[in-house]
Amino acid sequence: MRALVCGAGIAGLTVAGELGRAGWDVTVVERSPARREHGYMIDFLGPGFAAAEAMGLLPRLRELAYPIDRVSFVDEAGRARHLRYDQVARDQGGRLLSLMRPDLELALLERLPPHVEVRLGTTVTTIDNGPGRVTATCADGTTESADVLVGADGIHSTVRSQVFGPEERFVRQLGFHTCAFLFGAAELHQRLGATFYLTDTLDRVAGLYAVRGGRVAMFGAHRVDDVALPADPRAAVVRAYAGLGRLVEEALTHCPESPDLYYDQVAQVELAPWSAGRVVLAGDACQAVSLLAGQGASLAVAGGRLLVHELSTASSVPEAFAHYERRWAPVVADRQAAGRRAAGSFLPRSRRALLLRRAGLRLLQVPLARRLVSGRVVGRRAPTTTRD
Ligand SMILES: Cc1cc2nc3c(=O)[nH]c(=O)nc-3n(C[C@H](O)[C@H](O)[C@H](O)COP(=O)(O)OP(=O)(O)OC[C@H]3O[C@@H](n4cnc5c(N)ncnc54)[C@H](O)[C@@H]3O)c2cc1C
Repeated sequence: MRALVCGAGIAGLTVAGELGRAGWDVTVVERSPARREHGYMIDFLGPGFAAAEAMGLLPRLRELAYPIDRVSFVDEAGRARHLRYDQVARDQGGRLLSLMRPDLELALLERLPPHVEVRLGTTVTTIDNGPGRVTATCADGTTESADVLVGADGIHSTVRSQVFGPEERFVRQLGFHTCAFLFGAAELHQRLGATFYLTDTLDRVAGLYAVRGGRVAMFGAHRVDDVALPADPRAAVVRAYAGLGRLVEEALTHCPESPDLYYDQVAQVELAPWSAGRVVLAGDACQAVSLLAGQGASLAVAGGRLLVHELSTASSVPEAFAHYERRWAPVVADRQAAGRRAAGSFLPRSRRALLLRRAGLRLLQVPLARRLVSGRVVGRRAPTTTRD
């Protein structure tokens, strides 16, 4: 069997690796001309953690993970309230890793069987979704014929647009923009240590943390009146996060231009079905939950692995696609609803909401309350494959 995977992100590399290990002939096409180095810290827990464990990926992920001791929420007056993050991880039984997104991709890339081909700097331009086979032409002039085409090309998926319809039909905007970038700053790096610094502010949040190589990562999320992406993302970032204190001001002086600056809308993807003929979607392309749910990467790994399990065990490709969606869509819907519920506390829009969040933080100092919350964070139990 042969598969073409569009997108070498977390979902695409999971699917490609698992299919390759199941004996499929796999080609991955990735738009980016080189491995994407920019990124942000992700909490990796829940179903993705369990899938990574079953895939034998955990030892490498533990090597790549960052030990975050505490999250410091710093208000406008410079007053910090702390959350012992190491305790949160312990409440999860140690099944929570803080990883940079490119490091998770690296671990998946390293695990690809040698016969899986990854072609960088190209994409799928046309798709002929025939009854028994799918044929795609690529921007590099090649034509690929496969039993299955997996669209794992993220929230703005081209495969989805070509096969299922325009983005506006499937993307639910949540009213925020988000950004992330890395910069070199030895002194700030040392000062942050293993602390994740977060502003405790209305309508916008900026986060800073130290990453390897003496660098610091900044991420932000802010409410917008108009969800359309700005013409000049760098200028939008500098404007949106100005006045958030000395550390953020320092970070903003290092804000790069695209493509070193990640800037996007905060949104979820809702569509059904997830497949048509020989084409199926995976990861954010069909199941984006947004950063508010904090599990998109986790679901990309677990969902991608489940898709391959179904392709390996069902009696036909359409049956595999149907099983995959039937088992996985409820988990995604559950995490999406949780993400929408989290919006008000992640980015409080009123003084009252901000104070409520602070009260919640105090409650999290109580072990029982913390364990209850972390149970809710992981959410609905995800289906496992029979190999687990
Ligand atoms: C600030 C922020 C914080 C987050 N925090 C967390 C967290 O704590 N925990 C968590 O689990 N998740 C988190 N997420 C979500 C997580 O990053 C995503 O859900 C995850 O990256 C989705 O993986 P994916 O492979 O589906 O898509 P992507 O990561 O978007 O990868 C898509 C890939 O396809 C490529 N591509 C795009 N278009 C094309 C094309 N036309 N042709 C070929 N290739 C293409 C892209 O270059 C990319 O390599 C966060 C997201 C953000 C923005």
